[in-house]
Amino acid sequence: MRIGVLALQGDVAEHRRALADLGVDSAPVRRPAELSQLDGIVIPGGESTTMSMLLASSGLLEPLGKEIAAGLPAFGTCAGMILLGSSVIGGRSDQICYGAIDIGVRRNGYGRQLASFECELDVAAIGSDPLHAVFIRAPLVESAGDAVEVLAVVDPSTETPDDPGDSGVGGLTDVGVATPVLCRQDSVLVAAFHPELTADRRVHRLFVSMIEKRGR
Ligand code: GLN
Repeated sequence: MRIGVLALQGDVAEHRRALADLGVDSAPVRRPAELSQLDGIVIPGGESTTMSMLLASSGLLEPLGKEIAAGLPAFGTCAGMILLGSSVIGGRSDQICYGAIDIGVRRNGYGRQLASFECELDVAAIGSDPLHAVFIRAPLVESAGDAVEVLAVVDPSTETPDDPGDSGVGGLTDVGVATPVLCRQDSVLVAAFHPELTADRRVHRLFVSMIEKRGR
């Protein structure tokens, strides 16, 4: 198995390390020819506006969209989630949404106070141990279609390790309701947080297992 990591911006090395830890080969993708012979693609975080422009200038915009539309499994984290979603609120009018997963996403939707935060998530799909999740100017999923499986939510009552005793994740009271942060639709997986920044490999393993199941 060989998984490409879109290498225009963001945590490319960290995603490749996570895949290597799972024994999976990876390759950076900077130009269209590098899209061939891949079993999946990771779209890292960064700035979705900048990544949209870099996709256009690198010539990858259309070829990557075609591969994803043809069923290439894709895993987007943070800005990558925005690029794979079906609509973006608070973005530039010319920024890309591949529409590979039926979610509407608000850029930087957790508000200024909550620009970055960490918390524990319950993710039944990867096991019973809580998953430590790092959010950095994260997108907020405002809507998810019926075909979308919500694998984890961040709840306003979640305790942050930084802030024990507080009644919730800081300004999440702004949001008020549990919001999806890990979602799947067919062979597309998206996370509002950064699983490549922690040592826990279970989210990358989930993506790898999605590819393996599909191959059967
Ligand atoms: N705020 C960024 C955006 O809107 C995403 C942040 C990230 O990827 N860490 O694109």
